[in-house]
Amino acid sequence: MDSSISEKRFKRGVISQRMCRICLENDFTKDNPFLTPCKCTGSLRNVHLECLRSWTDSKKLSYEEDGLKSLFWSDLACEICKSKLLLKMWVNNRLFELL
Ligand SMILES: [Zn+2]
Ligand SMILES: [Zn+2]
Repeated sequence: MDSSISEKRFKRGVISQRMCRICLENDFTKDNPFLTPCKCTGSLRNVHLECLRSWTDSKKLSYEEDGLKSLFWSDLACEICKSKLLLKMWVNNRLFELL
């Protein structure tokens, strides 16, 4: 058995497995690219812009007291690697903002 060939196959397999960790799809478009907002590695690091937006939306908390309404986000950190999420990212020379 030639170990170098199987290693190449393995590496190619990993590259083609780029998929979103939220919706588990591997398609992406120019307006909904893959982002890597945290320090996760491997297949866990890719998240669609739109998926990340709906995830951050679910973290949005509103708070109302005496007619004063405030809106804030609970800690926006990755649940896996615990690093703070990047809220602005450049992808192919385009700036994407999450909030
Ligand atoms: Zn997705
Ligand atoms: Zn992470």
